[in-house]
Amino acid sequence: VPSNERQSASLSSTCCYCGVGCGVVVTKEKNGTVAVEGDKTHPVNKGMLCSKGINLQYTVNDKSDRLLYPQMRYNKSMHLQRVSWDEALQRTAAVFKTFIQKFGPDSVAFYASGQCLTEEYYVINKLIKGFIGSNNLDTNSRLCMSSAVAGYKMALGEDSVPICYDDIELADCFYVTGANPAWCHPILWRRVEAHKAAHPEVKIIVVDPRVTDTCSVADLHLQLNPGTDVTLNHALGRILIENGDIDLYFIQHHAEGFEKYKELAFQKSVAEAAEICGVREEDLRLAAHYIGNPKGFISMWTMGLNQSSIGVNKNLSLLNLNLITGHIGKPGSGPFSLTGQPNAMGGREVGGLSNLLPAHRNLNDPIHRAEVQKFWGGTSISEKPGLTATEMFEALNDGRLKAIWILCTNPLTSLPNVRLAEEALKKAKFVVVQEISNTPETLAYADVILPAAAWAEKEGTMTNSERRISYLNKVLDPPGEALPDAEIICRFAQHMGFQGFSYSNAAAIYQEHAKLTAGTSLDITGLSYEVLKKQGSVQWPYRMGETGAGTARLFTDKQFYTPSAKAIIHAVPDEFRSEKPDADFPLILTTGRIRDHWHTMSKTGKVNKLKKHIGQAFVEIHPLDAEILGIKEEDIVQVSSKRGEVRVKAKLSVSIKQGVVFLPMHWGKILGSDLNRANNVTSDLIDPISKEPDFKYCAVKVEKYQKP
Ligand code: SF4
Repeated sequence: VPSNERQSASLSSTCCYCGVGCGVVVTKEKNGTVAVEGDKTHPVNKGMLCSKGINLQYTVNDKSDRLLYPQMRYNKSMHLQRVSWDEALQRTAAVFKTFIQKFGPDSVAFYASGQCLTEEYYVINKLIKGFIGSNNLDTNSRLCMSSAVAGYKMALGEDSVPICYDDIELADCFYVTGANPAWCHPILWRRVEAHKAAHPEVKIIVVDPRVTDTCSVADLHLQLNPGTDVTLNHALGRILIENGDIDLYFIQHHAEGFEKYKELAFQKSVAEAAEICGVREEDLRLAAHYIGNPKGFISMWTMGLNQSSIGVNKNLSLLNLNLITGHIGKPGSGPFSLTGQPNAMGGREVGGLSNLLPAHRNLNDPIHRAEVQKFWGGTSISEKPGLTATEMFEALNDGRLKAIWILCTNPLTSLPNVRLAEEALKKAKFVVVQEISNTPETLAYADVILPAAAWAEKEGTMTNSERRISYLNKVLDPPGEALPDAEIICRFAQHMGFQGFSYSNAAAIYQEHAKLTAGTSLDITGLSYEVLKKQGSVQWPYRMGETGAGTARLFTDKQFYTPSAKAIIHAVPDEFRSEKPDADFPLILTTGRIRDHWHTMSKTGKVNKLKKHIGQAFVEIHPLDAEILGIKEEDIVQVSSKRGEVRVKAKLSVSIKQGVVFLPMHWGKILGSDLNRANNVTSDLIDPISKEPDFKYCAVKVEKYQKP
C-alpha cells in the first residue's frame, strides 16, 4: 500500500510468535488491513524480522477463518447456535456454579496459553485462585517451560532469567543445548552469528542429536544420544574440575553443594560418559576447554532439555556448569533459557501455573497465600496445587473434572498422547473454547465458543525471554462481536457474582498486577502503561521511582533468592525415566519445530508463503535405518508407538543420528484425518517435579505403509 494511502499513525507492538519478542510497527491502511515492519528503534531486533515476523499482518488481515460471535448448545446432541454474549456467559456461569456447588471448586479448570497477554493471565489467575477457590489454572507453558522454572527455583531460589540479549556481544563461549535457535529464535540467533562473524575466536558448542541449521556456525557439535544430557553435563563438570577451570571463590562464597556434586561428577570416567552419550571423549574435553577459558560464557537452552521426564535434572545439570565456573551475574555470562511463546514469561510473573502465585510467591507458603487473598479480597486461596496440563485431561477422563475452559491454545494437537486427551474432551461434561479462529481439533468438542480479539486488536503487555516487558498497542477493532480475552473473563466473573473485576481498561488491570509485585523479586511498581509507552520496553524489576530501561542483569551482587543467599549446586542423579526402545518399538522418536511454522499452525498454517519452506508433515530418518527397513525417500511410512500412529512421507537424512527419528510437532487434523499429528505417538510420561511431558523421547517403529 503506497504510504499516501495510509490512514493513521503507525503504532508500536511486539511480534506475537516466539519469545524473542521483536518490536514491530503496525500501520492501519485505509482498506482496514494492517502493514507490519520491524521496529528499527527496538533494542531486541533493531528492525529485523524473521520469516514469521514479516508475515505477521496475515494473522489479522485474513478474517476468513475468524470466530465472529458466541455460539452455544444446551446439550451434547444439539448443534452450536449463535447466541448473545450475555446468554453465553450467563449459561456458562450457571453451569460452573452448579458444578462448584455439587462437586466443589476443583471440578472446574482453566487451560490457557503462553500467548495470552499478562493482563489476561492476571485476571484468569485472580478469578480461579482468588474467587472460585481452586488452583486449577494451567497453561500450555507447562508443555515447554516448566522444567526451566523448576530448575531456576531450585538453583537460584526463584524463577529468574539472569541475563539479557546484550550479553551476547560480551560472551566468548556459547553452549547451545537442546535448542535450534537458528530456526526457532531466529532474530536472537542472528545476533550470535554476527558476533561470531566479527570475532571468529568466539566459540560455539551445539549439543543436539540432529545436525540443525544452528550447527552451521558451531565450532563443535556434540551429537549426543537422546536423553543423555545429564551424563554429558556431569562429564563436562568433571573435566572442568580436573583442569582447575572452575571459580573457587564463587563456589566457596556464593554457592552450596559443590562437594556432593564433585563426588557425583567423578562417579563416571570421561571415557564412560562419552560412550553413553555417543560422542568422542576428545570432543568432550574440547568442549570443556572452550567452556573453561572464556571471560563470558552463556549456556542457552530450550525444549530439548525442558521437554523430558528428567527435564528438571537436565536443567540443574546445565545450571551447574555456570555455577561452578562462576559465570553468572556478570556481563557476557549466565544461564539463558529461551522461551518458545511470546508471553510465557509474563504468565510466570503473574503466577499463571497451577503451582504458582503472583509475583514469584509460593502456593505452599501460608503467608504468601494470605497476602494475595487479602490483596484480592476474595475467598481464601486453596493450599492444594491445581491440576497441571496433562493432569487436567486425565481428570476429565476419570470424571474428577467436570468443566474445562480452554483459551488461546489447541490442546488436541499439542498435548502428548493426544488421542487420550481427545477421549477426555469427549467425556467432559462442559467445554468452553475461547479462540480467535477455527482450531477444528479442539472446537469440535466445545459446548460454548467465545470469539476472542487477536493480536493488534487489543492492548496489553508481554514479557520476552530476557525479562523485557513491552506494551502492545491496539490498532484495529476486532471483527464481528469478538472481544479481548481479559474482557471476556471479567464479564464472566461478574456473571458469577464476583466483585473486583470491573476494570475500566487494560491499564487498570496492569496497575493492579504491578501493585501486587511490591517488595518481591520482580517488583514492577514503577511501571505503568505511560512509562512503557514513553520508554518503549523495560526489563524487570522496575521499582517505584526507577527511570531508564530497567534491570539488564540479575545477581550482579551474587545474592541469590535462596535462604542462605547462595546459589545451589545440585548433585542431580543421572537417571533414565523415558520409554525404552524394545524389539517391537526399536527406534527413538524426538519431536520439534520447523522454521516457518509455529505451534499448531492456527496462524502460520493459513499463510501460503510460510507453507513454501516445508508444506507437509514428514519423518526424518537416517538412510542406514531406512535401508534396513526398505524405505526410500518420499515413501509413505507409518510411525507407530504403543499409543497410536502417524502416516507421513519419509525424509532420509544423515543429519539425524542412527536409531533416532524426528517428527515435526505442528500438524493436527487435515480433512478429518489425524494421521499427520505427531502427538498420536508421543509418550505421556512427565517429569515428576515440573510435570512437563517427555516430547523428546519415546519408543517407535517405522515401516513402509502398505495400503490394506
Ligand atoms: Fe517474531 Fe520470534 Fe521471528 Fe522475532 S524471532 S520476528 S519474535 S517469530
